Amino acid sequence: MPIDATKPYDPNNVFARILRGEMPFSKVYEDEHALAFHDVNPQAPVHILVIPKGAYVSWDDFSARASVEELAGFVRAVGHVSRDMGLVPRGYRVLANIGRLAGQEVGHLHVHIFGGEPLGPMLARQ
Ligand code: 5GP
Repeated sequence: MPIDATKPYDPNNVFARILRGEMPFSKVYEDEHALAFHDVNPQAPVHILVIPKGAYVSWDDFSARASVEELAGFVRAVGHVSRDMGLVPRGYRVLANIGRLAGQEVGHLHVHIFGGEPLGPMLARQ
């Protein structure tokens, strides 16, 4: 069930629990500002999620409230993970869903990194 991105942050969301060490996850990268791990239900050969360590519901919330250090640290982490996974030469996709129309399921900002095969059209239309 997609979340309403205008609602307050729910500290019991699954990625908050991962950050608190309450849930298992497959770590790819961690630094002061961000944590990256494999998506539990991968949609491509490479499907990594990168999340900020701060409590932000979505890209909208993060871009409005995060400090310059948090913003820079998160963007750098997404780039670092993509390079470290060897995705740059063949190309890859970065995606963030925000709220209901985009189908955001988890109310803690996450960026998807997809790669490893041709990724098809940007949007799937029925
Ligand atoms: P959204 O639709 O919110 O943009 O994406 C949420 C993503 O989180 C989905 O791709 C889903 O597979 C992933 N996900 C949901 N729960 C877990 C979990 O407990 N662990 C991991 N690693 N990924 C999860």
